[in-house]
Amino acid sequence: MTHDEPKRPRVLAIDDSDLVHRLLRARLRHERIDLHSVHNATDGIRVARNLQPEVILLDIDLEDLDGFEVLARLKADPLTRDIAVIFVSASNETMDRVRGLDLGAVDFVGKPFDVGELKARVRSALRMQRLVRMLAQRAQLDGLTGLWNRAYLDDRLAAEVETSVRYDKPLSLVLCDLDRFKSLNDAHGHPFGDEVLERAATVLASGRSPDVACRYGGEEFALIAPGTDLAETMEVAERHRVRISEIDWPDRPGIRISASFGVADLGCIEGDPTPEKLIAAADRALYRAKETGRDRVVGADQSEWRRIAG
Ligand code: GH3
Ligand code: MG
Ligand code: MG
Repeated sequence: MTHDEPKRPRVLAIDDSDLVHRLLRARLRHERIDLHSVHNATDGIRVARNLQPEVILLDIDLEDLDGFEVLARLKADPLTRDIAVIFVSASNETMDRVRGLDLGAVDFVGKPFDVGELKARVRSALRMQRLVRMLAQRAQLDGLTGLWNRAYLDDRLAAEVETSVRYDKPLSLVLCDLDRFKSLNDAHGHPFGDEVLERAATVLASGRSPDVACRYGGEEFALIAPGTDLAETMEVAERHRVRISEIDWPDRPGIRISASFGVADLGCIEGDPTPEKLIAAADRALYRAKETGRDRVVGADQSEWRRIAG
């Protein structure tokens, strides 16, 4: 495979029969896929989580767990629930097919395989899988700025809080709100306001690579900064603040945009850290930044946190 060729889709076959694996390998050898083989349900579930295949060919009659149980577990796990599963079985029982489809399988292939049918069903599952992934990603992106949206922020922040607590690593959250944005819209029109949002988003997205920039809503943005404590994150926010204030608007001479920033890290939180507490602490700091004159970065300190934890 040359380096500029797109990555081959991965197909995982879970079947206890060596013969079936050999047959699949032979029948699918000209397809542009990477075929992986495992021989029991337990390995299948584990490999599915790690490999993240696009498609799974799943035998119904496995020895350790039956295929229906495997499918139910794959669908119950966020890491594997979007993988397209094709049931493979010698059973021609309609009830088995119905049960598999009801559990979330996308298709069913009978044994012995008809080569043409097998290939067509694998291709069709791969197509569907691409669409599902594209839609899932779109649902997490903000349409105007291309940043991650609020739904993604909520999921990601929960995951980052959990990881940071488990490994005792710092984690910070920045909330950023454009200043006097309503007047800007009123004076220059909504389309210009949109342009400003896009440019500000570009600044926030072009920071350090571990930072996760999201559109929190309206003219508010959030930046998750994993591995970074309050002081360091305030410096990061300060650099963003300066860059936003330096944006030039050639068509509208004299215009300066500014933004206010509130920053909190896990150290600002009392009791068990939660995403909600981190957001509340950053929000409180942002409020202070607004109150004390805008166009600035304010951190959440312990005393402030006490006030809102009340
Ligand atoms: P402050 O400095 O206190 O933050 O004042 P502000 O005017 O920025 O805050 P306020 O919350 O009063 O107004 C936010 C404005 O942002 C109101 C809303 O019309 C505008 N806005 C929200 N979403 C969008 C959008 O997608 N595009 C545009 N152009 N404007 C938006
Ligand atoms: Mg606002
Ligand atoms: Mg605002």
